[in-house]
Amino acid sequence: MTRILLLGGVTEALAIARTLGPEHVYSLVGIGRVPTDLNCQVRVGGFGGAEGLAAYLQAEHIDLLIDATHPYAAQISANAARASQLTGTPCWALRRPAWQAQPGDDWREVTGWAELIEALRPFQRPLFTLGREPLQHLNEIPPQQFWTLRALEACPGNERCEVIGARGPFLLEDERRLFERRQIDVLVSKNSGSVATEPKLDVARERGVPVLILKRPELPVVDRVFFTVDELIAAL
Ligand code: NAP
Repeated sequence: MTRILLLGGVTEALAIARTLGPEHVYSLVGIGRVPTDLNCQVRVGGFGGAEGLAAYLQAEHIDLLIDATHPYAAQISANAARASQLTGTPCWALRRPAWQAQPGDDWREVTGWAELIEALRPFQRPLFTLGREPLQHLNEIPPQQFWTLRALEACPGNERCEVIGARGPFLLEDERRLFERRQIDVLVSKNSGSVATEPKLDVARERGVPVLILKRPELPVVDRVFFTVDELIAAL
């Protein structure tokens, strides 16, 4: 019997988890919803770095580690590759292909917060879709800017930042309304490659709004890489 530890936290990982039987384990950090209707076991919380993960793999007699985490969750992916080396457990990864710019897009890649703030300088009304990081900078909003920040959970903004709590998938019409209502003149995004959050890019293109894209992190080399859930399930 092969026992799998599946590292998740994104839609595709849940789709894989749904195919796993009761001997396998689906692992989540615990910031989102924890499914209660799976046949496999579900565990929640960190392992304590690569060494903690390696110890878990050994203690639980895991034969295959699958990293199906978000493309920007670089720490857990690095930990998975390291734990795989430490224990000799094979590691497979599901790596979502990045979005590609289309004709009419004005995408500008930035590598971190400082570079992003510099690139935002000419704009007045950015829409941030990066998760919670911008919340730490609400007191640094330049006087000419009004921010709109979308994150999974709503939380207080301030007089120059509206925070919207919303989970995808997002519809094209709703994204159009949001850009119009908040008069968005620049979009800030990761390149998550997710179909669920892609319509904002269509609206940016329609309106001629530039997109500042946070560069994808480098991910480690693992034993096998898959680009779709179906390919990975077929290999299993
Ligand atoms: P990260 O920086 O790569 O990981 C931070 C720490 O969280 C890891 O060192 C690990 O703690 C723990 N962790 C992460 N994923 C885990 C999992 N599936 N099971 C158990 N522990 C896990 O990750 P992040 O960017 O904060 O993302 C956290 C989770 O949210 C990930 O599972 C990711 O798939 C999901 N997510 C992330 C994003 C994003 O934009 N980053 C978007 C959507 C979903 P220990 O070192 O203690 O083991």
